[in-house]
Amino acid sequence: MSTANGCGCSNYLINYSNEELINIVVKEIYDFLQTDSESNKLTDQTDPQFPFIPLGISNRHIHLTDETFHKLFGDNVEFEVMRPLYQPGEFASKHTLTIVGPKLRSIPNVRILGPLRKYDQVEVSLTDAIFLGINPPVVNSGSLDNAVPLTLVGPNSSVYLKKCAIIANRHIHISDKDAEKHGLKNGDFCKIKIPGEKSTVFENVLIRTNKNWKLQIHLDTDDANAANVREETFVEFIEKL
Ligand SMILES: [Zn+2]
Repeated sequence: MSTANGCGCSNYLINYSNEELINIVVKEIYDFLQTDSESNKLTDQTDPQFPFIPLGISNRHIHLTDETFHKLFGDNVEFEVMRPLYQPGEFASKHTLTIVGPKLRSIPNVRILGPLRKYDQVEVSLTDAIFLGINPPVVNSGSLDNAVPLTLVGPNSSVYLKKCAIIANRHIHISDKDAEKHGLKNGDFCKIKIPGEKSTVFENVLIRTNKNWKLQIHLDTDDANAANVREETFVEFIEKL
């Protein structure tokens, strides 16, 4: 029998924050899913489809700090995973909030994505912004200098966040290695084409690199709806701008 102090295993876990533990669990689940499905096996290789890029459509969502999460949900509520997302380590949490704009119009059930971050951010589409009565900037995730205010309503309390709402710019997630292979680097902009009945070319698509990312393009619901596509689509990389 070992006690928490006498057991190396427990000490190992104690040294991690909740956020780090969540990341470990999510990675385990993600790795399991990767080995479990035939379709996912394809994506284990380095981008075999390039210049065809799998599409991910970002619905409105929220990123929160640990502090804001607990203000909204209560000190004793754990931040919990609902399901892993395509990008390693990222997940949809079980938690949603209502967002309220200056016209007192609200959108309920806006999901918080994890892990918790160092900033509070609400990503909406232009359609959402018009409905809420706000005018957010089109920027890269995390660029909050010109972000606009919203009120977030949770089960424990509400918070008014002065600089939180943005429209995320179109972007491609790609690993550093694959970016290099295709002559791309973090911060580049490119042009892509969506095939189909409402075939559409999008410019100003930002390249974002990270060593862990899998090749994927993220469009918001307005852009995806304009091209009449769902997530099963592959988008074609045309050129660097
Ligand atoms: Zn993204």
